[in-house]
Amino acid sequence: MLQDIKSLTREELETQFAAWKQPKYRVAQLLEWLYVHRVTSWEAMTNLPKPLREKLKENFSFQTLELLRKQGAPVLRSNTAEGGRDTTQKFLWRLHDHSLIESVLIPANPALYGEASDRHTLCVSTQVGCAYGCKFCASGLDGWKRNLTPDEIVEQVLAVERWHGVQSKVESRESSAGSRPSSLDPRLIDNLVIMGMGEPLANYDHLLQALRILNAPWGGGIGARKITISTSGLAPQIRRLADEPLQFRLAISLHGATDEVRNKIMPVNRKYPLKELVAACEEYQGQKGRMLTFEYILIAGVNDSIEQAKPLAALARRLFAKVNLIPYNKVEGLPWERPAEEVQEKFLAALEKQKVIATLRREKGHDIDAACGQLRLKIERELKTVPA
Ligand code: SAH
Ligand code: SF4
Repeated sequence: MLQDIKSLTREELETQFAAWKQPKYRVAQLLEWLYVHRVTSWEAMTNLPKPLREKLKENFSFQTLELLRKQGAPVLRSNTAEGGRDTTQKFLWRLHDHSLIESVLIPANPALYGEASDRHTLCVSTQVGCAYGCKFCASGLDGWKRNLTPDEIVEQVLAVERWHGVQSKVESRESSAGSRPSSLDPRLIDNLVIMGMGEPLANYDHLLQALRILNAPWGGGIGARKITISTSGLAPQIRRLADEPLQFRLAISLHGATDEVRNKIMPVNRKYPLKELVAACEEYQGQKGRMLTFEYILIAGVNDSIEQAKPLAALARRLFAKVNLIPYNKVEGLPWERPAEEVQEKFLAALEKQKVIATLRREKGHDIDAACGQLRLKIERELKTVPA
């Protein structure tokens, strides 16, 4: 299979174009079509000579994602004068081999950014399925299928921005103000969280290539400090990431502050127990400064007792990590439940008492905010039950 054009960095394209004896400015033109206009066909690149377009077509694929389903409010009415409100949007994409992956678009929290804000965070997937089999997670339920290629990671950002461009045009036609952004306006997504389906650090090379493209000024233009990679705890890859020149933020899916609890719910802990994970985090911390977050899903009767707050606080203080407490999202077919609200609040208070910076996700309607992997699981099961 051909490599996709959106898997290449500017430098790699320049080498290729030099070999074809094409002037350098042609690369700049190509990049503008890909990452500013976000076109979906070679034919749309009208200022590239036809023979060059033919050559590109012969040597590279040019894939886009097919939107299979979307959950969320039908029209994105961000910060409109009418008082419309942005809501979370979940996208289910079909890949060329018919695999399904998810991305989630999360609007900025007005409480954090003040009144009007066009900031958006996108949560992207890095694999189809996941091999790590955490007991509470929908993404790993049907195992691992394959790694995403760099372009499939990059394209999640572009496809959502394209979708938003179309929404904005519909809105501007409907509203008298008529001044919604077009697809040429500044980027919609300025924050990236690698927390969708899959274990990002198990697809290390493709992930890093995609992030180079998404970070570059000629590409996605998303600052490295605005990119958070979440891992279940792959210690050797955390060390490798510490040596990368880019300063990404790192989130550790801890979910247990002792080996006993982690072993129960996260098989990866048997391979890389806490001692090893903490040592790798310290190395990351040493190289990158204070850029660590612990994700801690609160699961009733598993990790939500007040006694657990003590070792968690000790780890957070040792690594200067912030703690994000996330009430568990129910997954169909799994026995786990989220604790009562007062249990969640008590756990948070216990951490704060021990001088740890912690937050608790409090939103009520968590249907579509549910962790990645759930929509895909539901639709795949539906598709399996529907005769072809
Ligand atoms: N594999 C990586 C990134 C993807 S999972 C990781 O594990 O970090 C992204 C986050 O969603 C992780 O913190 C994961 O533990 C969490 N998660 C998975 N299932 C969840 C559920 N049902 N409710 C709440 N969070 C969940
Ligand atoms: Fe994989 Fe992360 Fe889900 Fe664990 S929580 S199964 S590592 S996607």
